[in-house]
Amino acid sequence: MDTHDVRFPTSRELDGSDAMNPDPDYSAAYVVLRTDAPDKVCGHGFAFTIGRGNDVQVAAIDALRSYVLGRTLDELCADPGSVSRDLVGDSQLRWLGPEKGVLHMAIGAVVNAVWDLVASRQGKPLWKLLADAEPEWLVRQVDFRYLTDALTPSEALDLLWAGKRGAAERESALRQHGYPAYTTSPGWLGYGDEKLSRLAKEAVADGFTQIKLKVGADLQDDLRRCRAARAAVGPGVRVALDANQRWDVDQAVQWIRALSEFGPYWIEEPTSPDDILGHAAIRRAVAPVRVATGEHVQNRIVFKQLLQAGALDILQIDAARVGGVNENLAILLLAAKFGVPVCPHAGGVGLCELVQHLSMFDYVALSGSTEDRVIEFVDHLHAHFRAPVRIRDGRYAAPTEAGFSAEMHPASLAEFSYPDGTYWRADRATRQEATQ
Ligand SMILES: [Mg+2]
Repeated sequence: MDTHDVRFPTSRELDGSDAMNPDPDYSAAYVVLRTDAPDKVCGHGFAFTIGRGNDVQVAAIDALRSYVLGRTLDELCADPGSVSRDLVGDSQLRWLGPEKGVLHMAIGAVVNAVWDLVASRQGKPLWKLLADAEPEWLVRQVDFRYLTDALTPSEALDLLWAGKRGAAERESALRQHGYPAYTTSPGWLGYGDEKLSRLAKEAVADGFTQIKLKVGADLQDDLRRCRAARAAVGPGVRVALDANQRWDVDQAVQWIRALSEFGPYWIEEPTSPDDILGHAAIRRAVAPVRVATGEHVQNRIVFKQLLQAGALDILQIDAARVGGVNENLAILLLAAKFGVPVCPHAGGVGLCELVQHLSMFDYVALSGSTEDRVIEFVDHLHAHFRAPVRIRDGRYAAPTEAGFSAEMHPASLAEFSYPDGTYWRADRATRQEATQ
């Protein structure tokens, strides 16, 4: 098992800037699982962090090393969830959560690397491996602890068997037409109005039917930016808003009402991701504007409560926030049970590459629908991946390469590893010269 601290200098262009993260350097705490099998297939996974957070995240992944060394490929392929259960169940590491925060994200990175390894070995993209899997096997991959008041294993089994009906037709539709996407690229908070308008028009021309704007720092700025965005895209395109946890509950309600004249489709992360009742109160107050959240929801249990409390209209899974594929299966099953559409969080480093597999599985073999479902798309950093996402006419094309699309190019690791990659060495030298 190798770990890499990979950081991209995205703060220089204000790409990724929002009301809570003014200077993001998009980073990946990246893990590679190697084997001594003759085919040399590896598993790749990562947690997405921002800059200095990677110091802690890489150390957390390193702490899990003893759990993966020496396991057999046969065991992993038969039961990828065995690693997930062992990691979540370690009583000494569990004290740091349970099932939340840095350590849980580290578990997610390792578990996702295991799934990449398993799918690569089977020669299938992960979405296809999951869609082809026996429902009984998939249910055994899910940890139902703390969920059974909302979803039992037998209900999950029924949902998955129902998802098998028509799966072959949906798979061919997916391969032909892809999966709907929306774009956040026009709406970063650090962009000026001219850049926002230009990128919003380009998004519509590129076939997107939804864009998203960051809001929440200054109401007058938001009013002006929403007006510019609406003017750029016209009335028929959905404009979603994202506050990145900026507000208290009452403030959120007032702010969203002030922006409602521009017809926002959803408000994302209006307040703390831990505030289940707050989200429910905001949702009641701002309808018909939808409430979306999930990219910082730390585990399946919080998602369960958000659904039980009627606190969201749109559930936003993140491939690298929770404990990996196994826990995201639980969350997709919960969403299907409650009939709430899943519109994943993506962007970051490689999150588009990962999460597309989960939505495509959901469409082919679980919810069976793409209605009111879109995967976030942000157009940067894809070139660092061996199998980057492909967007055509505002839709994600189904990956055909085996695995979880998680592998980065060795050249990217060499350039952007921190602090000793070639980019960061040169950057340090330039700064030292400037101060002399
Ligand atoms: Mg967001």
